[in-house]
Amino acid sequence: MPIDATLPYDDTNIFARILRGEIPANTVYEDDHALAFHDINPQAPIHILVIPKGSYVSWDDFSAKADDATIAGFVRAVGHVARENGLVAPGYRLLANIGGHGHQEVPHLHVHLFGGRQFGAMLP
Ligand code: 5GP
Repeated sequence: MPIDATLPYDDTNIFARILRGEIPANTVYEDDHALAFHDINPQAPIHILVIPKGSYVSWDDFSAKADDATIAGFVRAVGHVARENGLVAPGYRLLANIGGHGHQEVPHLHVHLFGGRQFGAMLP
């Protein structure tokens, strides 16, 4: 079920539990700002999720509340993961779902990196 992205952060969500090491993830990258791991239900040959280490519900929450260094660190981590996984030359898709209409299911900000195949035109 999609979440309400205006609700307060709930630290029992699955990605918070992955960050705390309570449940495993297939990690591909970690630094002070971000953790990246393979999606459990991949929608492309490469489907990686990148999450910030702070407690942000969504892109909206993050862009409003995180300090500049945190935002820069996260954005740089996403780019690093794309480069390190060979996504840049063939191209890839970067996506963040936000709230109900965006069909966001996990209430901790995450961006999806999709790659390894040709995608179609982005249609709503
Ligand atoms: P959303 O719809 O919130 O943008 O996407 C949530 C994503 O998280 C989905 O693609 C889903 O497959 C993935 N996901 C949900 N639970 C887990 C989990 O426990 N581990 C991993 N690696 N991915 C998960």
